[in-house]
Parts: sequence; structure tokens; C-alpha cells
Amino acid sequence: MGKVKYYYDPETLSYRKIKKQKRTTFKYATVFILASALFGFIFVFIASHYIESPQERELARELENMQLQYELLNKRMDDAITALENVEERDNAIYRLYFEANPIPEEQRRAGFGGINRYKKYEGYDNSQLIAESNKRLDILEKAIVIQSKSLDEIAKLAEDKEKFLESIPAIQPVNNENLTRMASGYGYRTDPFTKVRKFHFGMDFTAPRGTPIYATGDGVVKRADNRSTGYGKHIRIDHGYGYVSLYAHLYKYNVRVNQRVKRGDLIGFVGSTGRSEAPHLHYEIFKDGQRINPINFYYGNLSPEEFDELLKKASLENQSLD
Ligand SMILES: [Zn+2]
Repeated sequence: MGKVKYYYDPETLSYRKIKKQKRTTFKYATVFILASALFGFIFVFIASHYIESPQERELARELENMQLQYELLNKRMDDAITALENVEERDNAIYRLYFEANPIPEEQRRAGFGGINRYKKYEGYDNSQLIAESNKRLDILEKAIVIQSKSLDEIAKLAEDKEKFLESIPAIQPVNNENLTRMASGYGYRTDPFTKVRKFHFGMDFTAPRGTPIYATGDGVVKRADNRSTGYGKHIRIDHGYGYVSLYAHLYKYNVRVNQRVKRGDLIGFVGSTGRSEAPHLHYEIFKDGQRINPINFYYGNLSPEEFDELLKKASLENQSLD
């Protein structure tokens, strides 16, 4: 309820009531509102720029914490990378070397991702660098683990092949030592028992009584069991793969058929004197890629070092072969 104000009118010589004009009131109100708004705007502007709200302080702390956690994760990533590097080094320097596989070069193991920028989505923030860098390292780590895993698969395959190879190649004496009368003749120049001339003897002769068991010297497939080769009489040829074939000659009897798969140590036949043979004995040959090689190096499987020494001495004597 406003006060009623008067003014003196000199014309009528009387006091008159002052009538408030609505227009003026409206004008004052507008100015007041505009001024308040401007002041308010300036205040909020200043406050929002220079004074932190509790919520903002909370967010800032959270951000700081996140940054710290990122840094800790990066340290743990360092540890993971070091552990992986250890495995990689052993992989290159031991496993791959042992199985004659080429080492995997460092550039290949540490290759990032080329082409488009995969980390563009992290750009445009204060912590872009930290997040992009962390993601990049993790990507490289992941890739390195995949490469290492593939390398180990390859090693496992090579180990399996090597095991198969070791089981396949001839590696034992075809006649047991206790059944052996003597190791009659080795590989090299020997006197022919029939013509008495010096000629090359391409195998080793093991003297043993007729009927003595003969064993396969490595895993393989029987390719021949017949007497259609000159001189060998009844003989067996086993294909061991990897270019190796073993031959057992002058047999009395067979214990295998052609195309039969045999394991090292399987009984394949019996000592005899068929073909061009002076007395019951086993004539044993090893072929590598079609060439006959000295069998002396293929007995490591069942001879002691002393037995091998003895065999070596006898095999190197230039005596008469039994053929
Ligand atoms: Zn011989």
C-alpha cells in the first residue's frame, strides 16, 4: 500500500493528488529486471570461471585418480612386456635354434598397426596422449603374444616331426649282441670270399647261427621281401622315410610281408645263408638318398659305448667279408 503523494497547483491554488503513470512504472520495472539479469550473468560468469563447485572438485579428484590408475596399469604392462620378452628370447635362442627354425626378428614381434589412425577416437582431450599411448602399447603386447603363441605351435609341430624322425631312422644293431658269433666284416674294401679279390663291401656282416632273429632298426614300411636281387638271396628292404632305407640280406626266413608297417625292434626275419653267402650271417646295408653309407654310425640306440668301441674296432679290420 503506497503513500499518497500531493503537489501544489498554482493555477487552482490547491493541493492535488499525484497520479502515478502506469507507463513510468513499467519502464522502471524493465530497467530493473535488465540490470539484475546483467549483474546475475556477470556473477555466474565469474563464479563459474574462478570458483570451483563441490561437484567440480569431486570430478577433478576422480580424473586425477583415473590418471594415476592409468599410470599404474602402464607399469604393470611394463612387467608383462618384460616377462614376454624373456619367453621370446628363449624362443629365438633355444627352441627355434634347436629345431632349426629361423628366429623371429624383433621388428616383426614389435610391429604396431599401420594404415588408418586407430587411436583417433581418443584425440581432443587433456589425457588423450595417455589413453592413446596405453592402448597402443596394449595392442602391440596383444599382437606379440599371438606371434609367440604361433611360434610355439610351430615348435610343437617341429618337435613332433623330430620325434618321428628319431623313431624312423635306423638306430639299433639288427641282431642282438648275445646272439652274435662275431661281427665278421665292416664297410669298406674287403677280400671277396669267393673270388679272393679286393673289392668294396657296402654293408656290415654279422655272423650268427641260422635262425637267429633279425630286428627292424627303425620305424618304416617293408618295401621288399624277396630274392629277386642278385647276390642278396632272401632279403628285406625297409623304407624309413627321410631318404633312409635299410637292407637285410641272406635271410633264412621272413617274418614280414611287403607293405607291412614295422616299428623299431620288430622281428622281421631270421639269419640264413641264401644268395651269395659263404656262411650263415646277416649282411646289413643302409641307403641314404639312394647311396649306400657306412652303417657303423647307426647303432647308438642299443649299444653301450664299450660295445660300440668293440664293434668299431672289428668293423675297421680289413679282412675277408662273408658277402
Ligand atoms: Zn656282407
